[in-house]
Amino acid sequence: MRKVDLIIKTKHLYTMKGEGVGYQQDKSIVIDRGIITAIGNSDHIAQEYTADKYIDATDKMVLPGFVDAHMHTGHGVLRGVAQDINRWMFEGMAPFELARSSEAKTAGSELAITEAIMNGTTTIGDDSSDIRGSLEYIDKVGVRGNVSVRVRSALIKPYKGDELYTFDKNYGEQTLNEALTLFDDFNNRDNERIKIRFGPQGADFLDLDLLKRVKELARERHTTIHMHLAQGAREHAQMMQRYGMRAIPLLSKLGYLDKDFIGIHLTDATDEEIQTVVDSGASMVFCPNSLGVIGGAVPPAVKFLEDGGCVGLGSDQAPGNNSHNIISEMKATSVFNKIKYKSSTIMPAWKCLRMATIEGARAIGIDKLVGSIEVGKHADIICVDLNTPSMAPVYTTPMRNMVPNLIYSARGNEVATVIVDGRILMEEHVPVTFNVQEVVSNAQHHADIIGEKAAPLFNEIHGMNAIYMEEDKL
Ligand SMILES: [Zn+2]
Repeated sequence: MRKVDLIIKTKHLYTMKGEGVGYQQDKSIVIDRGIITAIGNSDHIAQEYTADKYIDATDKMVLPGFVDAHMHTGHGVLRGVAQDINRWMFEGMAPFELARSSEAKTAGSELAITEAIMNGTTTIGDDSSDIRGSLEYIDKVGVRGNVSVRVRSALIKPYKGDELYTFDKNYGEQTLNEALTLFDDFNNRDNERIKIRFGPQGADFLDLDLLKRVKELARERHTTIHMHLAQGAREHAQMMQRYGMRAIPLLSKLGYLDKDFIGIHLTDATDEEIQTVVDSGASMVFCPNSLGVIGGAVPPAVKFLEDGGCVGLGSDQAPGNNSHNIISEMKATSVFNKIKYKSSTIMPAWKCLRMATIEGARAIGIDKLVGSIEVGKHADIICVDLNTPSMAPVYTTPMRNMVPNLIYSARGNEVATVIVDGRILMEEHVPVTFNVQEVVSNAQHHADIIGEKAAPLFNEIHGMNAIYMEEDKL
């Protein structure tokens, strides 16, 4: 008998191996030192192995943890303050963002990451400046981090209409230095559990010199660039005024687009621009709920896939989504595109599940580590309750209905157990490595302070939410 750390036994295993969902029945997964070392028939595994810990997931579906490829977790403390409006960034976010301290941002990260884990996310694709607090929480609770550190030279302040952003060299240098320091401090920490990416915020937010240097530094360090791209009218107005061309043609000309480039949103990229990005080997992250709420748009994930590109899913941010729940993103991916293309067959459930797992991992370059349940990969695994009103009843003949139920019916609270690198973060709905009440209370404490500080500018801007307050609609 071989002694190992953990054995998970299940009736329904979704490995995500191959081109479909890789379903296998009555299997056990053997995990040792964070790595999946064997998968086999449960009877056989029971004869060959003994473990320190057993998880009986017989009445659950077992699948790879979800990859959230794009998040701004620090906005977690601003949940619900910037939706149902036109100018999201300046009318909605600005008063609250300017009132948010560094401590409040960390409290927001802790809240968002906690929420994501409880909904089955095992890879946190955070993207922000001032992100050390988020990284420390990721490190502490044991979730996987794929974190891009924000680089920008445009000063953060309210801008009017299409006013050109003010670039500040010193501010740009400061953000770049922070990215390099965090890279040195955290990249590949804990057996590659944490990866640091460079996150130039968007082609419009950096001066040309800084934009080029970030790419060179990413190449030298063998890491990726994670960048908002073709984000809509605001970005195009900046790019056309400054360079006389849109972001994708400029980046293409600079040799920026390649397999180590992850483009976020591509909201209004033209067909030709999409083809340019796909041909370069770059991937795309689709954030359906966020772009729906803040932009009334369905970005071109279908076209990107049709052209042969790789697409992952992201939850973006809490003010203007307003959640970090990949199950909800999978449903939105399917439903929004069914409506957009007037087709009930587009974006089937299995395809959404692949985007949330193996394709998402591939999109951000970590598919050799995670994204499927295979021998040799790191054990990032979740168990989903089937004995719940939203997942029951289960059919196994003449068809299985678990994947459709997960995408179209589940809400997130069906996720019972979350494992990253073989370590149990939550078991049978009970958090093991984090304290939910502490995190929620701390976020509330900071929200109370932010609300007070944000009030004068919120009232001065007098946006839609200020009007809604006056009209008793909030
Ligand atoms: Zn974003």
